[in-house]
Amino acid sequence: MTKKLSRRAFLKGGMAAACTIAASSAPVCASSITDDNKQLATLIDISKCIGCEECVFACMDSNADKFPNPQKPFPKMIPKRVPVMDWTGKQDVTDRLTPYNWLYIQHATVEKGGKEIDLTIPRRCMHCVNPPCVKLCPWGAARQYRNGISRINSGICLGGAKCKTVCPWKIPERQTGVGLYLDILPELAGNGVMYKCDRCYEKVAHGELPACIEACPEDVQTIGSRDDIIKQAHKLAKETNGYIYGEKENGGTNTIYVSPVPFEQLDKAVEKGKGKPHLGPAKDSMATANNLAVAMLIAPFAGVAAAASKFYKHTKNEKGEASNESE
Ligand code: SF4
Ligand code: SF4
Ligand code: SF4
Repeated sequence: MTKKLSRRAFLKGGMAAACTIAASSAPVCASSITDDNKQLATLIDISKCIGCEECVFACMDSNADKFPNPQKPFPKMIPKRVPVMDWTGKQDVTDRLTPYNWLYIQHATVEKGGKEIDLTIPRRCMHCVNPPCVKLCPWGAARQYRNGISRINSGICLGGAKCKTVCPWKIPERQTGVGLYLDILPELAGNGVMYKCDRCYEKVAHGELPACIEACPEDVQTIGSRDDIIKQAHKLAKETNGYIYGEKENGGTNTIYVSPVPFEQLDKAVEKGKGKPHLGPAKDSMATANNLAVAMLIAPFAGVAAAASKFYKHTKNEKGEASNESE
């Protein structure tokens, strides 16, 4: 891993003063962002967010090269019940998660101290400590890095959406007409590729901040080792009489929210539905014996998928097309 920080990240890292817990909310812990053996987490201080969407547009710009570029017309699927998901005409949608929008701002009007207040909440993949999307992907298309970042490899994913089914927040979103299924079984397998926040894994690998953190004018997010972030979240919650979400949900995540009102209240106030995740309870989905058994059974398919991926890349190279993948 390259041990390098961008100037901006370095400045923020300097401000973080080695991520000491005594410091107030700081954007980055420079020492821990480059340590790929520690789970990397973010603290999101909801009370600081002004809903400006700078982070949303920075995410779009930074990840534009990874967005789908599907072939049309789409192959007719057998069985026909496999739904086509086409976001190509809605690439500017920012009020929900889509294959072209991996981060959006959720709105809530809640009561605090007898007054109505408006809160805005950045929402994206939670980067679970033990991510079911990774552990239960039948094709080994999703992986988790040692630093806790989870990512779906668009060169291997068949778009079967198991990751979405098992995700407590239904985060990944599908685009039809793109990916490996077109080269293998276009009418029978999958239906595209699933997309979600990959925590700007290349930038992080180079010691740089994720685009959304770098762009935020209010320093809403702090990034650092999970241990430091958890301590910092508890300190902030204690100082502000705040509430924590993400530390225990789904067995623990690497996205820790601190809110000035209880999350039960926030969850009732936010709009939920397709592409709009909840803020409610999330049981540890990998804790049951059944899920673990399934995970063990499907493990061999990862090798099959890897081989298929090589075939796919080979074919693409022969066609003279550039691959989006950097692995
Ligand atoms: S850029 Fe920062 S303040 Fe603006 S919406 Fe995103 S998290 Fe909130
Ligand atoms: S929030 Fe969902 S998509 Fe993100 S790591 Fe957890 S299970 Fe996977
Ligand atoms: S970490 Fe990167 S991919 Fe994830 S929401 Fe932020 S900018 Fe987007």
